[in-house]
Amino acid sequence: MFADIIIDISHEQLDKTFQYNIPDNLRDIVKIGSLVNIPFGRANKMIQGYVINMGEEAKYPVEKIKYIDSLVTDKVGLAGEMIELAYWIKKNYGSTMNQALKTVIPVKDKVSQKEKKSVCLNVPVDEAKAMLDTFLKKNAKAKFRLVEALIEEEIIDMSIIKSKLNISASTIKSLEDDEIIKINSEEYYRNPVPRRNMFGKNVELNPEQRQAADLIKKDIDENVYRTYLLHGITGSGKTEVYLDVIEKVIESGKQVIMLIPEIALTLQTVQRFYYRFGDKVSILNSKMSKGERYDQFLRSMRGEISVIIGPRSALFTPFPNLGLIVIDEEHEGAYKSDKTPRYHARPVAIHIAKKKQIPVILGSATPSVDSYERALNGEYKLITLTKRAGDAKLPKVYVEDMRDELRAGNRSVFSRRLKALISDRLEKKEQIMLFLNKRGYAGFISCRSCGHVMKCPHCDVSLTAHNNGKLICHYCGYEQENVTTCPECGSKYIAGFRAGTQALEKLLKKEYPNARVLRMDTDTTKNKGGHERILECFANHEADILVGTQMIVKGHDFPDVTLVGIVAADMSLYASDYKAPEKTFQLLTQSAGRAGRGKSLGEVVIQSYTPDHYSIQTAAHQDFRGFFDQEISYRKLLGYPPILNMLKVTLSSPNEEALDRASISLKERADKVNNSIVLGPTKANIYKINDIFSKVIYIRNKEYGKLSSVYENLDNFVIGNPLFKNVLVNYDFNE
Ligand code: ADP
Ligand code: ZN
Ligand code: ZN
Repeated sequence: MFADIIIDISHEQLDKTFQYNIPDNLRDIVKIGSLVNIPFGRANKMIQGYVINMGEEAKYPVEKIKYIDSLVTDKVGLAGEMIELAYWIKKNYGSTMNQALKTVIPVKDKVSQKEKKSVCLNVPVDEAKAMLDTFLKKNAKAKFRLVEALIEEEIIDMSIIKSKLNISASTIKSLEDDEIIKINSEEYYRNPVPRRNMFGKNVELNPEQRQAADLIKKDIDENVYRTYLLHGITGSGKTEVYLDVIEKVIESGKQVIMLIPEIALTLQTVQRFYYRFGDKVSILNSKMSKGERYDQFLRSMRGEISVIIGPRSALFTPFPNLGLIVIDEEHEGAYKSDKTPRYHARPVAIHIAKKKQIPVILGSATPSVDSYERALNGEYKLITLTKRAGDAKLPKVYVEDMRDELRAGNRSVFSRRLKALISDRLEKKEQIMLFLNKRGYAGFISCRSCGHVMKCPHCDVSLTAHNNGKLICHYCGYEQENVTTCPECGSKYIAGFRAGTQALEKLLKKEYPNARVLRMDTDTTKNKGGHERILECFANHEADILVGTQMIVKGHDFPDVTLVGIVAADMSLYASDYKAPEKTFQLLTQSAGRAGRGKSLGEVVIQSYTPDHYSIQTAAHQDFRGFFDQEISYRKLLGYPPILNMLKVTLSSPNEEALDRASISLKERADKVNNSIVLGPTKANIYKINDIFSKVIYIRNKEYGKLSSVYENLDNFVIGNPLFKNVLVNYDFNE
């Protein structure tokens, strides 16, 4: 057995590994993450290094490979833990060890730390006073000025000495060399939490919240560690429950990782934590510089902060004594990495928590089907909050049948009800949010007359229209000609659905010339802080209507929004993936939850061509359980996750022929591994991007472990195989 050893575990050095032989006496002891002594260099100087990989294959002639000397310690330190975690991620999500290490190890930026220097006397004051005369005699004016100043004031900032006292670096150096003064340097960290407007309120938990928090706290007292799924409708006060538990964990001297989707990581959210825990709180986000991010990791490592709030990467905060992980909005797609390794924060958090024996709290108004299924199976402990906290009431929801609108001669994007309600709110000077949900939208074909959607007869997902006039299923590859009349009702109003936020904004300005409209989508939020700025404008009543994509669903509370319109609910419903109904339910429920957060009752209008779809009906009634029961039976029927686990293999190449050959051989290989169900290869959702073609293969198995061994097998098959010379292969679990 051989081990790859790394000497300096930092981002820049990850490629520099050295192979060592593992001696017999250490064979069962050395693990991935172990800290070992190794003879290094020509002189065989004994140094320490971490084992980051193990294998049977020698990379050099065996006689040239040195032996590991001994184990430094059998305890696993922070670095060891990170290496172990990287290995686990590599195995479970498919990547190289290097990619996995890069994911878990924070990036150090050379100029990251800021130094704050100050100067004080290094001699007693009397002695210093005596020196002043000597300086005068020698005409050393600068030295005189500095020592005189230091007699007056014990410590002076270096910046002041240089700027105000106008003293040069060489003078300072000379005094320092003569041991007359001392330079103190102190690292300080950039604190990313703005201190302005820190306000908050202390609330007393209502009985439901109290019960939830107490249950978790009692478990902690009794050393029971598990994963909780806190299911509470929007506005039920989940955050207050987290805060209560977090307080206890901090008091016991431990630290907390609080994950929040980046888009919801607004000042409003951070303030609630800051108000409660003050300087012990810090944040991470993608807009921070590498240096700022690294500073937060250092502060965490040194125990200077107790709570880190951030998106999925905050999971890798190196706390010395982690006590709790909270994942708010656990259903959010943003918890899944879009780069290799494509890990999902939820299982990774649970893995970390098992190792450290600490609890995990998952919270959501619309839990993922995966988590809820596990909660029902008893794998997670389910806790439910059923009431809105404070006195806010749930909004009234209308589902408008857009087929009826067409029949009644209304060809507008807005139903008659939505139009009437918009006018009403504008008159009352109340605010409106209009929401166009384009997630995963990929050109499905639907009938505006009867609502019929063209679907794959085998997979029950929408077919996608391609430029060549074909409709294609992206799971199984089924193809058929596009249609010009509806196969259900014969109407010619069958086509792709087209509408954008920009068009919507234009239309509003035409229909309501006096209304002030704000638009929020990827275009208007490109600039740093764009997203925050628009939300702030809206919160300040600088606009009457906010139009946007799913972005507007999260973040700020707008107490004066009393009308929410979901213009085209079907757009996400017929995205061509199996999660479309789940995502739609979540988006509809969450956006409906934006209405009526203040004192007045909110109203919600959902417009749809298929108003009877269970996602829409259950969302309209805020009926999560109703949705879940229907959805899980559909997943059972078709064998989608979480019933079966699924590995999506994507192959990409500029050369279509090479792609075809590689895909077919990979599929054949997958067929042979174990008894997994293999579908494909088929064209990817978007077959050609920038002249690169992509195909996908789906592999399903009940056991996750079996799928990871399929992955390992395929990965071995691909590496060094000439068939894959021009073909890139990507792996994605349960997507
Ligand atoms: P969630 O995270 O479930 O959406 P929040 O924790 O954000 O809910 O709470 C929603 C609103 O209700 C917030 O403005 C919060 O301050 C308020 N709130 C929460 N709990 C209580 C309580 N026990 N009493 C009064 N107000 C509360
Ligand atoms: Zn029709
Ligand atoms: Zn199909």
